[in-house]
Amino acid sequence: MDWHQIFATRNDRMKASEIRELLKLLEQPDIISFAGGIPDPDLFPAQAFQRAFADALTPETQATALQYSVSEGYPPLRDWIVGEMARLGIPCTRDNILITSGSQQALDYLGKLLLSPGDTALVGWPTYLGALGAFNAYEPRYDRLDPETNRSAEDYAQAAGAGRVKFAYMSVDFANPTGRTLDAGTRERVIDLADALDIAVIEDAAYQSLRYEGEALSPVLAREIARKGDINNCRTLYCGSFSKTLAPGLRVGWVCGAQEVISQLVLLKQAADLHSSTINQMAIAQVASEQFDTHVATIKSAYSARRDVMLDALARHMPEGVTWTRPEGGMFIWLELPTKVNTAELLAQSLTSERVAFVPGHAFFADGSGTHTMRLSFSRTDAAMINEGIARLGRLIAAATV
Ligand code: PMP
Repeated sequence: MDWHQIFATRNDRMKASEIRELLKLLEQPDIISFAGGIPDPDLFPAQAFQRAFADALTPETQATALQYSVSEGYPPLRDWIVGEMARLGIPCTRDNILITSGSQQALDYLGKLLLSPGDTALVGWPTYLGALGAFNAYEPRYDRLDPETNRSAEDYAQAAGAGRVKFAYMSVDFANPTGRTLDAGTRERVIDLADALDIAVIEDAAYQSLRYEGEALSPVLAREIARKGDINNCRTLYCGSFSKTLAPGLRVGWVCGAQEVISQLVLLKQAADLHSSTINQMAIAQVASEQFDTHVATIKSAYSARRDVMLDALARHMPEGVTWTRPEGGMFIWLELPTKVNTAELLAQSLTSERVAFVPGHAFFADGSGTHTMRLSFSRTDAAMINEGIARLGRLIAAATV
């Protein structure tokens, strides 16, 4: 049977990438991988979760923990998040929060909520690959969000053609894949642009808690509330996650925004999966209440040391003509090589001759450009392996750039 004949058109843009196929090789034990971008499992608060799951499964608690629950999310967890949002300068109530199965699900729902086929999503060049994956199913066009330039709202609107610009998506702190952080002025300009275009802003805050140096910058949503007085008057939708701070396997994230949007997202959640796992939300609520700050301090000190080792190794081993970002937090460093180097080809070579993995950058560009860029993650590799891996990569790149 030719299944493609009956697949809906929205599948046309959803293809397994060659890179993902190559990255399957990472399972091999002798590969030094800078590809993942996932937390170090040795840093999971496993004992705290052991207690939290045991507490959720006592005779008194199991009836709640194993039962269906409300689509909006487990109320004590939403209350904890309300406190966390207040600390970030985002006053809100429980009704402004929807718990999702990871922030990835929030991106899918926001695509579903906002995009009709042919509408335009403004995204960074490059941007988080998983966001493109989530939005692709809703058949959008992409345009380059460039708030650091003077491109006018009219110009963005005109470029949208027959559709309409619907939102600007961005990862504001220590972005995946670049590690860059948007400065205060740029955050303010994003709000101006969104107001002028009358569109939503999707603020992806997946790495927000992982700052290793410098002053925290208030989120776009906090700035918009400062201008407009109330979250319910705001167009920014803040997507948070416990994946990088506590444990990605439990799949718990959230959206915080105007109640009108949250109520509509709740309907999408009901249609898709009714609610996120009750027991996982209970466990996250307990572990977050007990030790969010102390645990985050522990992982920040481990990751920031690895970032420093990688930056230092890059300075020693990269040849002339290679530049990279200096992230103030998160998990990623972004490299730009001379344009003649194709990093997808370099990866194939690297996996065979050097046994080092990274992610070629072009996958993060909606227009497929960026073939000379790459993303390195420092979150899962110890110092000795980072030094060894970067030395090997430096050799390979030096040979490719002569
Ligand atoms: N946003 C960004 C920028 C990410 O890097 C990731 C995970 N890699 C996610 C969202 C999704 O994370 P999760 O669904 O685990 O919250």
